[in-house]
Amino acid sequence: MNRNRCKTTLIFFILFFILSSWRIAQVRSQEIPTKEQIVAKFSGRIPHEWGEVVKGVKTRLNTDQKVLALTFDACGGPKGSRYDAKLIDFLTGEAIPATLFISGKWMDANPEIFQTLSSNPLFEIENHGLTHRPCSATGRSVYGIKGTKSVGEIYNEIEGNALKIMNLTGRRPKYYRPGAAYSDEICVEIANALGYEVVNFSVRGDAGATYPKRQVEEALLHSASGSIVLMHMNHPEGGTAKGVIAAIPELRNRGFRFVKLSEFELR
Ligand SMILES: [Zn+2]
Repeated sequence: MNRNRCKTTLIFFILFFILSSWRIAQVRSQEIPTKEQIVAKFSGRIPHEWGEVVKGVKTRLNTDQKVLALTFDACGGPKGSRYDAKLIDFLTGEAIPATLFISGKWMDANPEIFQTLSSNPLFEIENHGLTHRPCSATGRSVYGIKGTKSVGEIYNEIEGNALKIMNLTGRRPKYYRPGAAYSDEICVEIANALGYEVVNFSVRGDAGATYPKRQVEEALLHSASGSIVLMHMNHPEGGTAKGVIAAIPELRNRGFRFVKLSEFELR
């Protein structure tokens, strides 16, 4: 008798759990607009801006504290899929948190490294686009990289990579940085409608990993409190790791602390 009652209670709880998970999933999918809804809402609009800092793009932490947010992009593609182990090993060894913007292409090229990075609590994994395209509603390009051509392509570029990150890590990203850090303002509105903030930078830390050590170090040492620094983790041949390794002890001496983007509001 008693045993039966236990069984019934157990079954009841299991059913309750399944039903509530289903309900949460339903509410969640209702919150995020579908591709059709995004296309219906944004198609036909003409963008007026094209650049790194268009309307709505965040570039700084909203704080007066002496903090810097180091962000490292992993862009992907034939020349952009390498991994700067020296840089990441240094950050890990020194317990320096950072935000990593990773494209779908880079993830495909480095599945094991991606898993290691995403399971390291020092790092937060954010969205650098499924195919690392500049984010345009009308097919604009920059630095010879072709941008997305339509609202539908913008949706695929942003949400496609967000789903990829979510499937691999169990966590939905909060931020999106377009390929080449270039977008129009319609792209920003679409990203916002999908629940992401678009984040570029206030300090150009390595200019696409083209800066030699000295220039990376200078850029870091001249960063104001609350800056978001853009650098790269996919060019081990560049000066980024050496510049970071040179600048960080001095920044710490000056009282700077390093934080992830999600620790502060952005502006
Ligand atoms: Zn990139």
